[in-house]
Amino acid sequence: MRSPGFALCYPCQEHQTESRGVLADVVVPISYSRRTGQHHHHLRSYKSTPASAQAKWNLLALLLLFLREHIDCLSRRLGGPPTHAVAVPSTRGKAGPHALQELIQDRLGLPWLDAVPDPRYGPEVRHFQRDWFAVRIPDRVGPVRPLVLDDTWTTGSRAQSLAHALKTAGASSVAIVVLGRHVKPEHEASRPLLKAIEEPMFDLSVCSVER
Ligand SMILES: [Zn+2]
Repeated sequence: MRSPGFALCYPCQEHQTESRGVLADVVVPISYSRRTGQHHHHLRSYKSTPASAQAKWNLLALLLLFLREHIDCLSRRLGGPPTHAVAVPSTRGKAGPHALQELIQDRLGLPWLDAVPDPRYGPEVRHFQRDWFAVRIPDRVGPVRPLVLDDTWTTGSRAQSLAHALKTAGASSVAIVVLGRHVKPEHEASRPLLKAIEEPMFDLSVCSVER
C-alpha cells in the first residue's frame, strides 16, 4: 500500500461532459492499489466467498482511522459534515447490502441511502451513465450531503454516476471516499505513477484534499 499522491483522472473530461458538470464535489482515494499488491488482495478477498476475516478487519480499521483523521477535510469540501452514507452497488449485483456497507454500517452513525442500479447496465459498462442508479432521498429539513463509499476506483464511472443521481435527487453536495485507486502495473501510463510512489511509505495523516 502506498501513500496518496493522486493522479486520479479527476475531474475526468468524459464525466464532466456527460454529467454536464453534475458530479461529486470531492473524490478522496485513501491509497493507491497496485494490481496483485497486498491492498488489492484485501479489496478482493473481503467480499469473496468465503470472505477473508483478516481482509475485513484491515479495511475496516483503515476506513475508520481515515475518516477519524480526515472527516474535517471532507466536511470543508461538502459545506458541512456528511448527513448520509451510501455504498456504490457492486458490479456483481449481489442481493442485500453491499459488503462495504455491511462492514461499516454500524460504526458511522449516519443513515444509509439505497442506490438501485438499472439492470440494463451490466458489469462490462465502463462509462458514465446519467440514469445508472435510482436513489431516493427521504424528506428532510436542511441540506443533504451524502458520503459515497466505494472499495475500488478504476474509471470512477460508477461512483460518479451515483454522485450524479444523488445530486439529481436533491443532494446539495457529495463526497466520494475510495479505499483503493486501482493501478495496473502493465499499463504504460501507470509507469511514472508507480515510480513516484515507490519510495514514500503510506502516511494516513495527510489526505489528497490537503495536497
Ligand atoms: Zn485530510
